[in-house]
Amino acid sequence: MFNNRTKIKTLLQGNFVGKEVTVMGWVRTFRNNQFIALNDGSTNNNLQVVIALGLLNDETLKRITTGASLKVKGEIVASLGKGQSIELKAITIEILGDSDAEKYPLQPKKHSLEFLREIAHMRFRTNTFGAVFRIRHSLAFAVHKFFNEKGFVYLHTPIITASDAEGAGEMFKVTTLPIDGTAPKNEDGTINFTEDFFGKATNLTVSGQLEGELGAMAFSDIYTFGPTFRAENSNTTRHLAEFWMIEPEMAFYDIEDNMNLAEEFIQYLISYVIENNKEDLEFLDARLAEEEKQKPQNERQELGLIEKLKFVTDNKFERITYTEAIQILLDSPHYKKKKFKYDVSWGIDMQSEHERYLVEKHFKKPVIVTGYPAAIKAFYMRLNNNCEAGKETVAAMDILAPGIGEIVGGSQREERYDVLVKKMEQFNIPVKEMSWYLDTRRFGTVPHAGFGLGFERMVQFVTGMTNIRDVIPFARTPKNCEF
Ligand code: ATP
Ligand code: MN
Repeated sequence: MFNNRTKIKTLLQGNFVGKEVTVMGWVRTFRNNQFIALNDGSTNNNLQVVIALGLLNDETLKRITTGASLKVKGEIVASLGKGQSIELKAITIEILGDSDAEKYPLQPKKHSLEFLREIAHMRFRTNTFGAVFRIRHSLAFAVHKFFNEKGFVYLHTPIITASDAEGAGEMFKVTTLPIDGTAPKNEDGTINFTEDFFGKATNLTVSGQLEGELGAMAFSDIYTFGPTFRAENSNTTRHLAEFWMIEPEMAFYDIEDNMNLAEEFIQYLISYVIENNKEDLEFLDARLAEEEKQKPQNERQELGLIEKLKFVTDNKFERITYTEAIQILLDSPHYKKKKFKYDVSWGIDMQSEHERYLVEKHFKKPVIVTGYPAAIKAFYMRLNNNCEAGKETVAAMDILAPGIGEIVGGSQREERYDVLVKKMEQFNIPVKEMSWYLDTRRFGTVPHAGFGLGFERMVQFVTGMTNIRDVIPFARTPKNCEF
């Protein structure tokens, strides 16, 4: 057996003084031919390894360089030095893998996030990304814990789909037909997909919702948590072409139940990280504070990262209707001074600048907006009763978060067969092909609702990272698919 090591996090937390242990990890720094800062990724804190004079020959000492991997056996002793309470007095050191110090891309200095994105295969070894991805892991774990405790069934919805009814965004095509122009054609010149792998045109999924609804109509409460794909050419700090989405779908829920669940869920995820990732959050909090100092006073955020998170767990989200939101925007000094790039009127699909004004300037907390115009939302959202003619609204809800904008999109679904079919016809959704979906409304339909939480946007919110490319291990964005 090779792996008999103790993780550094365990050593730093426990009572190991006087004990002999083996550790393994990568060298962060090596000072005075004597002190190694060793890191194994279990925590950002390094273990100081002390090499007594004469323990190693010169040749071995030269091979202890930044990035090299070591196996160290030694005794844990109380540290005399500043900055750590224990250290490891080495008995034997084995170099597992050398690292050419001159070629090693991570020098012991501050690198820009942009540079680190180019060497994303190495950036896990930095403090910032160590913290970000341990928190990402915790959030994923907390997602499953939350739903499991509530009795939801984790449903694996397909990645390859034939329906493009969702209309959530541009789709990536999936095909095994040749792409050199020799694909079989129909008489009218279009591609004959009956000869394709699935016998029809297929895509990567943009959302698991429609299949999720099928599950909810049997299990009552389900959730999906998987990758989704959008071929949208939006090069922003909050859009990826491949991102992970969590989509709960609940039978016997109306829009208010839906809002309550989404709010409780977000607060639960944040509380979980506050409790379980204290050191990593403190590191990111300090990092963000440093970054804020570089900004002019009037652009700085009022709250630090941890303060912001606690504020979100301790306060109710603001709930307003779309109509109220539009009125707030129209009444705002910002609008009157013509500071919005896009115009505001009832019926618009709010732009990110509008959403950010509402959460960051007006309410200064997460806001749930409901009752959107039917014309700008998906076909499956439930038509509200008693709408003014020409001002039809649906039971949709978006949750907007400070610094991020939309983090959740959801709705109560249209459970009335006739209303749904009429809507599908209006939206040019092929009713016949969607017969499987309509079956849920034919056989024991019930009021139901659900939402989608963009996992990376949630990780952004919790870690304070401003670019979504920095919260997913290997980002897929327009013109970029490295690693
Ligand atoms: P946006 O207006 O920000 O593009 P959307 O209206 O397209 O969002 P939905 O289709 O409602 O979003 O998707 C549900 C959730 O998935 C969003 O609230 C967001 O958190 C997340 N999301 C949507 N598109 C992306 C993307 N391209 N990259 C990362 N997350 C996304
Ligand atoms: Mn979008």
